[in-house]
Amino acid sequence: MFNFVDVIIPIPLKKLFTYGITEAESEFLKPGMRVAVPFGKSKIYTGIVLRIHTNAPTAYEAKDIHQILDETPIVNNKQLTLWQWISSYYMCTMGDVMRAALPSAFILESETIITKNKTIDESILKDDEFLVYEALQHQSSLKIHDISNILDKKNVLPVIKRLIEKEAITVEEEVYEKYKPKLVRYVKLHTNFSSEEGLSKLLDDLSKAPKQRKVVMTLFMISARDKKPVKVSDLSQESAASISIIKALIDKGVLEEYHIQIDRVQYSGDENESTKNLNEYQKTALTEIKESFKNKNITLLHGVTSSGKTEVYVKLIEDAINQGKQVLYLLPEIALTTQLVSRLQNYFGEQVAVFHSKYSLHERVEVWNNVLKNSTKAQIVLGARSSIFLPFNNLGLIIVDEEHEQSFKQFDPAPRYHARDTAVVLANIHKAKILLGSATPSLESYFNAKQNKYGFVEITKRYNDILMPDIELIDIKDKLKKKRMKGHFSDRLIEEMTETLKEGHQIILFQNRRGFSPIVECKTCGNSPQCPNCDVSLTFHQYRNQLRCHYCGYNSAMIQDCLACGSQDIDSKGFGTEQIEEEVKVLFPDYKVARMDLDTTRGKYGYEKIITALEQQEIDILVGTQMITKGLDFRNVKLVGIMNADNMLNFPDFRAHERSFQLMIQVSGRAGRTKERGKVLIQTYNPYHNILQQVSTNNYIEMYNEQMDDRYNFKYPPIYKQIKITLKHKDYNRVDAASIWLGKSLRQVFAEHILGPESPPISRIRNQFHKNILIKIPKNQSLSKTKEAIIKINNSFLSVKDFRSVKIILNVDNY
Ligand code: ADP
Ligand code: ZN
Ligand code: ZN
Repeated sequence: MFNFVDVIIPIPLKKLFTYGITEAESEFLKPGMRVAVPFGKSKIYTGIVLRIHTNAPTAYEAKDIHQILDETPIVNNKQLTLWQWISSYYMCTMGDVMRAALPSAFILESETIITKNKTIDESILKDDEFLVYEALQHQSSLKIHDISNILDKKNVLPVIKRLIEKEAITVEEEVYEKYKPKLVRYVKLHTNFSSEEGLSKLLDDLSKAPKQRKVVMTLFMISARDKKPVKVSDLSQESAASISIIKALIDKGVLEEYHIQIDRVQYSGDENESTKNLNEYQKTALTEIKESFKNKNITLLHGVTSSGKTEVYVKLIEDAINQGKQVLYLLPEIALTTQLVSRLQNYFGEQVAVFHSKYSLHERVEVWNNVLKNSTKAQIVLGARSSIFLPFNNLGLIIVDEEHEQSFKQFDPAPRYHARDTAVVLANIHKAKILLGSATPSLESYFNAKQNKYGFVEITKRYNDILMPDIELIDIKDKLKKKRMKGHFSDRLIEEMTETLKEGHQIILFQNRRGFSPIVECKTCGNSPQCPNCDVSLTFHQYRNQLRCHYCGYNSAMIQDCLACGSQDIDSKGFGTEQIEEEVKVLFPDYKVARMDLDTTRGKYGYEKIITALEQQEIDILVGTQMITKGLDFRNVKLVGIMNADNMLNFPDFRAHERSFQLMIQVSGRAGRTKERGKVLIQTYNPYHNILQQVSTNNYIEMYNEQMDDRYNFKYPPIYKQIKITLKHKDYNRVDAASIWLGKSLRQVFAEHILGPESPPISRIRNQFHKNILIKIPKNQSLSKTKEAIIKINNSFLSVKDFRSVKIILNVDNY
């Protein structure tokens, strides 16, 4: 009898590959272990074992595996079950899923680049390991086949694996920013003066230096009041003393200066804060959630902004970990802020692990291993969408916070999964409970709750009886007519800003990213510079004085004269965050302005730095894109201005209205989180738009009902399901013909439920022409049968010789 193994290889191949193994290997191997396998003429891949069996493949002769790479599985059965679900639901290969799921350090392949890690004690290296290590002293990097040549053998992966374990080499380590912790200066009284005597003597001595005396008195006052370390900046402010007076006291030895590192990632406290007592609304919600979990695994929590949802989650987490279960707390990437991380770390200390795409390979592997070992160090994982792939084996609870967020969906590359929906399946595999939370639930989740598929719990009041912000709509058409606009600012907005700043409060200005790219246009002939690779206008980046393409990264210097007519009368109109920032600086020259968008938040801590600055009140006015909407809690922000609401409302997408509502409510939620009621000003050309009315009255239900009517009428999700097919090719005629063929074939099966093919608004990206076909799937039509039919049609498509080079992308739930 012969033994075989089905192996998942991290490349987009439809079928799994079967390899031969020996009797002994078949006894040793388990699903989830890595094996090195040959592929094609000379390639070697790391594969994951899926199945061990005795059925020889019929279509080809099975090659033998090269090597077993693990002693025990690195992927468990529950994960493999999830991978199979993702592959079948999202119509992608197991190889696609594997590549997304495993940290790249686990996948060694011919293409992998190997570099020297650090200088280590060479005596721990075996001979073959040493040869590789030595070669890396002379060459900065090696590929796997280079190492094959050096060692003169094929199976080099075990050597590489050992070298990684000995930390001698690194594979494909990404470049990441080393974090320089922010140091804050603090002062305290020198211990010489801590006794009552010492102190009164000091105050006597200082009687001739009233300013210095005042500093010492103020220091006392602050420490007594706040009972925590006193910052130099606070002391200077409250005692109205300059930094140089404080310095004089330090030099004299009266005060002692010290620094505390505000560490953004590591947990440094040693004692856990106990969790907060819930108020009545939170208590009721918690009881209702637990009740709902008795007969439903999924529950939706609809709680207005600042209602204290997080504290409710915390209680549920506490219960789960007390039962020894693992907890996954999913958040959109950008909401994974220090604010939330440290809040949870204060409660749960070292049990909290964070999993984030901006983390280095090493940090991610560490979390992976801790989860795999079911270590208490990662009993609570706080992570972005890819954390659903971690090797949980004992999951009791999943929280999906901000469940309406679009960034839970991965658009490119495959697997094009939605982390919230996948988390529902993951919870099911573990028989765990899952709570979806939002102040503005997605229509699909709210619909599921209404259909009784999900449990449903509400919190309608903000914590501490804080009022919802007062929202005012400003008609900019009218303001323009009456000449009451300065640039993009209405007189009302300027008025409120002036007032807010005078009171010492902070301001957030929101500028929607989409469609607001600042475009350069010739005032004489109207021409605007285009990207040579894509079908879009280039956008103007003032800061770099560059024109850039947001789709392919093409860039050139800003033009001085029109490329079409030579005129020098060039208008860089538009309305990016940069422009708003410039205008604010002119309008409010005495205040500090900062900008938060993709450009200013690059790097691991880019985002954190701005948030810290806002928290520390080093910024008076923050101008930002969608990034500022996410779950942030700023005490001192009183005014939020939405610069222009129309552009997001008019975006060509069936969810534009739903999204606009969510965005505006979320941005508004940043205003007035303390006793003082917050104010929100929304500038618009169309103040009577239903969505704006619903935003200004915070009427989710009305928005829901109205939008759902549209979804019924126009057959959109969540009433119908949707699969989008995108075809790409550099030759327009070929992609055109291919899409017509595919559309026709699909129509034969699905009739009127096929839309297209059509060219998307941006029909050429990176020199590839795009065509889209949309398949609408009624609720009563079997999804799996539909997919089977699509796959069949796709296979005949691929058998047409002319079409073979056309790239096809399937996107299930493409919204
Ligand atoms: P949400 O996530 O619903 O927007 P948060 O959980 O961020 O609201 O809570 C808003 C603010 O209220 C936070 O600063 C939080 O610390 C505070 N808060 C919420 N619940 C409590 C509670 N039970 N006791 C004390 N403070 C609370
Ligand atoms: Zn011109
Ligand atoms: Zn481009």
